[in-house]
Amino acid sequence: MTHGDEQHDVVIVGGGPIGLCLGVLLAQGGSDVVVLEGRAERTNHSRAIGIHPPGLRVLAAAGVADALAAQGVAISRGAARSRGRPVAELAFDPPVLAVPQWRTEETLEARLAALAPTALRRGVRVLGLAGVGGGGATVRAAGADGEPRLFRGRWVVAADGARSPLRAALGIPVRERAYPDAYVMGDFTDQTADRSAAVLYLEPGGIIESFPLPGGVRRWVVHTDTLVTDPTPKALAALIAQRTGAVVDPASSTMLSSFTVRERLAASMRRHRVVLVGDAAHEVSPIGGQGMTLGWLDAEAFAPLLADPAHDGWPELWDAAERERRQAAAEAARHAALNMALGRSLPPKAMTARNQVFRGLYRFPPLRSWTARRFTMQT
Ligand SMILES: Cc1cc2nc3c(=O)[nH]c(=O)nc-3n(C[C@H](O)[C@H](O)[C@H](O)COP(=O)(O)OP(=O)(O)OC[C@H]3O[C@@H](n4cnc5c(N)ncnc54)[C@H](O)[C@@H]3O)c2cc1C
Repeated sequence: MTHGDEQHDVVIVGGGPIGLCLGVLLAQGGSDVVVLEGRAERTNHSRAIGIHPPGLRVLAAAGVADALAAQGVAISRGAARSRGRPVAELAFDPPVLAVPQWRTEETLEARLAALAPTALRRGVRVLGLAGVGGGGATVRAAGADGEPRLFRGRWVVAADGARSPLRAALGIPVRERAYPDAYVMGDFTDQTADRSAAVLYLEPGGIIESFPLPGGVRRWVVHTDTLVTDPTPKALAALIAQRTGAVVDPASSTMLSSFTVRERLAASMRRHRVVLVGDAAHEVSPIGGQGMTLGWLDAEAFAPLLADPAHDGWPELWDAAERERRQAAAEAARHAALNMALGRSLPPKAMTARNQVFRGLYRFPPLRSWTARRFTMQT
């Protein structure tokens, strides 16, 4: 270590929602923590909106649940429809909170700044592992000034996202799976009467999901058989109208993107003194909206272990936490795969027959309640 290099209890690589939340949990407990974020500024590129009740529990422990609730929409009801007819109605109790991911990150960042004003280092890109051993690990980084720098921690946490350069540097294998599904996603002024309900339109051309957002906005996520590389608000509005009859004003579009779906599960969440959390450990399909909550639950599981050096010599504690988190990720991946399969296009007769079966099944309250709990990550 030379001048300008730093030593901390925990070095977190990645200041996305998971790295920031873990940083808050650790700083709150009195750990000396640093969060290294390669981007000089937060991106407002739209990704997650849904925060499930277990995620809200972690955010409450991090002291930001009330601030987020004040900025979001509580989704307390889900409806499935097909060709204008109801298929099922679910009640979400407690509700799912809808907040754009950038707002969630902004709120976590403010909380971290209040607890540890210099903990977040923006514009610091980690280039690789400089060494492990001697009761810690060291990463090599380029500072905001471009100068090379070392950061050493008793633990290093890779919260550096789905492509995780640190995971690659550690040589942790990843099981990767690409799905045939593609989606176009857009935010528009909400002209429906659905207010705070999430709605799934099970249509022969493929599923359309719609979710309320703060500010009278609704997000539409539309299944397509191939990736639409040049989506336009007008084409998306036409697709929504054609499949569901819902009216969407293209001129009110505030976000538009298209994506395909991958799943990546790391073979291990820990090597030497480096722990993987969030998308670095498990990227699951956004369909089902469980990725961010899954990562916060990693943070909740590992924070107490990272905080206290007395846990360093108890591998069985780490193994138990890792086993539980990997099982949860595999379960979320299965759930997302099922959601995607149910959303694929089907010939109209087959779709009608399937929805008829769903209608019959969802008359039973226990099944409705089980499904609602599964959708909101409470089973
Ligand atoms: C379209 C879409 C919709 C989604 N909807 C939902 C939803 O509704 N609900 C939900 O729970 N999840 C959803 N997700 C998933 C959710 O966005 C991710 O699970 C979440 O962002 C993961 O957070 P993370 O902190 O692990 O990784 P990221 O958000 O990817 O953050 C990683 C951070 O690490 C930084 N970084 C990377 N490499 C380095 C480096 N070398 N040095 C320093 N910094 C580095 C990056 O700049 C980034 O800021 C959605 C995803 C997509 C794509």
